[in-house]
Amino acid sequence: MSFPPLVEPADELTIDEVRRYSRHLIIPDVGMTGQKRLKNAKVLVIGAGGLGSPALMYLAAAGVGTIGIAEFDEVDESNLQRQIIHGQSDIGRPKAESARDSIAEVNPLVTVIVHNERLDNDNVMGIFEGYDLIVDGTDNFATRYMVNDAAFFLGIPYVWGSIYRFDGQASAFWPTATLADGSSAEAPCYRCLYPEPPPPGMVPSCAEGGVLGVLCASIGSIQVNEAIKMITGVGEPLVGQLMIYDALEMSYRKLKVRKDPNCALCGENPTVTGLIDYDAFCGAISEEAADAAAGHTISVVQLEHMLKEREEGSRDFLLVDVREPNEWEINRIPGAVLIPKGEFLNGNALSELPSVDSGRQVVLYCKGGVRSAEALAVLKGAGYDDAIHVGGGVVAWVNQIDPSQPAY
Ligand SMILES: [Zn+2]
Repeated sequence: MSFPPLVEPADELTIDEVRRYSRHLIIPDVGMTGQKRLKNAKVLVIGAGGLGSPALMYLAAAGVGTIGIAEFDEVDESNLQRQIIHGQSDIGRPKAESARDSIAEVNPLVTVIVHNERLDNDNVMGIFEGYDLIVDGTDNFATRYMVNDAAFFLGIPYVWGSIYRFDGQASAFWPTATLADGSSAEAPCYRCLYPEPPPPGMVPSCAEGGVLGVLCASIGSIQVNEAIKMITGVGEPLVGQLMIYDALEMSYRKLKVRKDPNCALCGENPTVTGLIDYDAFCGAISEEAADAAAGHTISVVQLEHMLKEREEGSRDFLLVDVREPNEWEINRIPGAVLIPKGEFLNGNALSELPSVDSGRQVVLYCKGGVRSAEALAVLKGAGYDDAIHVGGGVVAWVNQIDPSQPAY
């Protein structure tokens, strides 16, 4: 899908600007008009951390005229391994101010707006308003869902990225997008991809799980790449597509993300019609389950890929549905066996599973990912170190992979 340019061109470029941006100007697809669009663009970057650092520097270098920085944290020594917009002498300073000063060094022609405050329901709409595009470098789910919802209500597109150890993901969410002919692009939002947040702690933060510093540049630069394309209307942005990057394999994969007609936010009968309590939404699960799921959660698109590999014979695993038989009757992921969660809790399930030393992986799913995380905790306790579960469960499977099955 290609889209019309997001931003109207500025009236003119100064002599200084023409000199500075000459390597852009001689790219036929960008040219003078594209650079004028960048000059007129207002981009808000959420977070001046791992993703925000490279994103801010490249947005500034590219000549995006107005850049907002939403960040409330201060620079810590442990940030410098990846947050390259900050330096040694910035330790202890507000990140937003440190980032502003670095941008002034990279490109003094950029207007920087500092939002040195934590985003919340009271300020998010006011801060977002007036920006053409948002680059989301947030590292927690409550803020991600809030960003998604606020951007949707305001009709602002945003480029999302996430990083963990050697793995990165990126996409662009713009559910209100229209194509050049004025028709709806039927583009998904973040909730279409991840209808439910994982239980707290399921995906550990960089502080808990670690992140390869340079991965931030790989994903942050993808985010800027997509921002530039959307601002100038060049190429095909990652709208409706999920980019998955594996730094160890050095592979990029792109997966289609469909708009979910049942999406709570952008679907046909939305239930989320205003900002909600995001801390509660990203809420409660047992600590054991959260610990077990941390780093052992896959998405339904990853599961679909694994199932294909199993079909081809290049991979083997046991897929277990831990819901109740009546739920299994309604829908299921093909190729699964049913062992309800209760069987895990009373220990009977273990006799039906491959033995720990068989090398055969166990993959669990339930309706939304909470029960499977609890069953996963039991498996971990029994020594199944490589067992994993499916985030979003069968709900996500039906929404994203197999809409022919009924939801419940
Ligand atoms: Zn949606």
